[in-house]
Amino acid sequence: MIDRLSVERRSWLMSRVKARDTTPELRVRRIAHSLGLRFRLHARNLPGTPDIVFPRWHVAIFVHGCFWHRHEGCKKATMPKSREAFWRAKFERNVERDRRAIRDLEASGWRTLVIWQCQTVDLPTLRRTLVEFFGLETANRSSASY
Ligand SMILES: [Zn+2]
Repeated sequence: MIDRLSVERRSWLMSRVKARDTTPELRVRRIAHSLGLRFRLHARNLPGTPDIVFPRWHVAIFVHGCFWHRHEGCKKATMPKSREAFWRAKFERNVERDRRAIRDLEASGWRTLVIWQCQTVDLPTLRRTLVEFFGLETANRSSASY
C-alpha cells in the first residue's frame, strides 16, 4: 500500500510524524516540573499540536529540532547535499506550518514559546528562560522548594 503513495504524499506523511519524548523535550519537561508548572503533552486539539501545554497559564511550548524546523543561523540546520530543491521545499513547508500554528494559537489567546533543541543543552540557561517566560521570579524568592 505504502509503495503506491506518491513521493510527495509519503514525504507529507513522514513530516506529520513528530518525534515524541525526545531528549530536548524531556529536558524542558523536567525543568517545568521542577518549577511546579503543571502541563499536558502533545495537545492534538490545538493548532500545530504543541509539545507541552500549560492550560492554567494558557501557554503552549514547542520544542523544535534545529534541523527539521530550520533554526535560523544554527549550525545544526544544515542543508543536505543531494536533492537540495526537494529538501528546500520540504523545510519551507515545515517552517510555514510552524508559523501558522503559532499565529493560530496566539489568535486564540495562547502565549507561545519555541525552544530549540540546541537551547536545551545548557540547563541553567534553559531554566532561566522558563522562569522568565512564566514570570516566576517573585515566586522563586519566597519559595524554599529549590
Ligand atoms: Zn539550534
